[in-house]
Amino acid sequence: MVRLIRDHIGNKILVVVGVSALVSLLGMVLFYTWSEKQSILEQYTKGRQELLNSVDRGLHFIMITGSAEAAEKYARQLLEAPDVTEFIILRTDGKQAFLDNNTIHQVNWNKGEELFTPRGEETERQVIAPETPEFRRTVQEEQTVLYNEQASNGEPLITFLKPLVNDEGCHRCHEQGDQVLGVIKLTSSLQATHDEIEKTWQTALVVLGIFLLIMLLITAALMRRAIIVPVQSVTKAMRQVEEGDFTQQVPVLGNDELGRMARSFNSMIERLLQTYTGLQREQDKLTTIILSSSEGIVVTDHDDRVVLVNPAAERLLGKSMGQIIREGFKHLADQPDVLQQLMDGKVEDSKILKFNDRLLQIYAARIRRSDGEPIGSAALIQDVTEQKRLESELRQLSFNDQLTGLYNRRSLEKTLKKQLHLANRHHSPLSIVLFDVDHFKHFNDTYGHDQGDRVLSTLGGLCMNTCRETDHPCRYGGEEFCIILPHTNNEGAMVFAEKLRRRVEQARVDELQVTISLGVACTLGQKPIRDINTFMKQADQALYEAKNQGRNRAVLAVSRDSDQQPDDGDET
Ligand code: GH3
Ligand code: MG
Ligand code: MG
Repeated sequence: MVRLIRDHIGNKILVVVGVSALVSLLGMVLFYTWSEKQSILEQYTKGRQELLNSVDRGLHFIMITGSAEAAEKYARQLLEAPDVTEFIILRTDGKQAFLDNNTIHQVNWNKGEELFTPRGEETERQVIAPETPEFRRTVQEEQTVLYNEQASNGEPLITFLKPLVNDEGCHRCHEQGDQVLGVIKLTSSLQATHDEIEKTWQTALVVLGIFLLIMLLITAALMRRAIIVPVQSVTKAMRQVEEGDFTQQVPVLGNDELGRMARSFNSMIERLLQTYTGLQREQDKLTTIILSSSEGIVVTDHDDRVVLVNPAAERLLGKSMGQIIREGFKHLADQPDVLQQLMDGKVEDSKILKFNDRLLQIYAARIRRSDGEPIGSAALIQDVTEQKRLESELRQLSFNDQLTGLYNRRSLEKTLKKQLHLANRHHSPLSIVLFDVDHFKHFNDTYGHDQGDRVLSTLGGLCMNTCRETDHPCRYGGEEFCIILPHTNNEGAMVFAEKLRRRVEQARVDELQVTISLGVACTLGQKPIRDINTFMKQADQALYEAKNQGRNRAVLAVSRDSDQQPDDGDET
């Protein structure tokens, strides 16, 4: 019941209206019944007083006729009047009159004759104590006094005490001295009057109830139309909006506050719908981007629970969305420490991890609100396997010769510079073997350029096989090759050169044979060579010498002081 009132504005208003109407109507009823009661009692009292006056007059008349018995009989008959429960004529001492011979003796004595015959049997009855205030007032002030009392059975009674005034008519029998000869006591039951008042009260209550009911019904009907229906339509629409339906509009009834509220609500919803549609569009775009992205995206909420996994993430990690959610954000690529470091910003933005034979580049960071409070984390996962392979291939290409598979000239220069520096620092020998194919121009002219290429490719393989791991075989350019031999003195270098020469001589490419001439240079036994050009020049001169001596041979360079060049600062 309390909830029914608390949860409905209409019921609340009805209760307020009902209570105020009840209070005011009850007040009206109370006032009405009180004044009705007063009026009834007044009427009643008035009636009784008139009765008393006529009794008074009747008594006087009877007494003048000199018949006390008639007066007594008259008094007895009055008892038969409706509601009259007691009618007694009292003497001023509060005793019932006409029961003894006192008054008769007195009157006879006054008159000096036996005017009244004394009664044979005398009795005495003290009806009221003479000192009773009401009685005293009646006797002394000659006023009619009335007072309420209650019978032993609880019946309400009203008693009138009216003085019997000693007027001119009485002087015939009574002395003139006493102003009041006796008191008429008339007691009536108020039961009928009270019943009438009760009935009035009950009728008034019934009328009150009916009025109240009618008033509440009218109020409820009016209120429903004017307040409840508009308020309900707004609250219903608000509930729909709360559930995500932004198409709600409420009817505008009137121009009052509720009408204005409905209008404001409608325009608010229109704006909300516009904003929501815009946001929805942006979200759709974002969702499309996330879903179609080739990069894996995983997002968590502020409790680190995974809330978003796109298909690319499932594909790259080889896990289902459910598995990713179960295992948690940090276990995306089975390396929780790395994920934690990325989120804490302790390492660079991303890390490349080997996962399921793939190289995954993982970016991870905390998502923060504008005030810096973290609200989740996000990870972006890229498959960089192919990219890394291409990078490595590119790196290799930049240092390798495609035809022979040997290092290219760029690599030769870089490595030779480095090895020269190391050899000088550690005083260890370093040799280079420079060789050139004999009469290769003629070979090309005879067998074609492609055949020449196949020969060069075979030479590359022979070089590679003849070299040690630490050696660095390069294609110097065209059909010239250079092999860097670290920690190798001139003897070792000559052995290597001869070995290679022989292998080439013995090798056949498509049944065809070529020979090579080799120039060998070594750092050992010389002043330090800091310049690779000087070193290469020595090897080139030895090669030239080998050509001059008839080709298909290896010649060791002879160091000459003129070959030494000042330190040019290449030692880096
Ligand atoms: P020599 O014995 O004096 O070295 O005589 P040669 O004919 O070999 O003379 P040289 O070394 O000057 O000749 C270079 C020739 O090598 C010219 C060119 O036709 C050939 N050549 C250079 N680079 C390539 C290449 O990449 N492929 C082929 N098939 N031939 C090449
Ligand atoms: Mg050449
Ligand atoms: Mg040549």
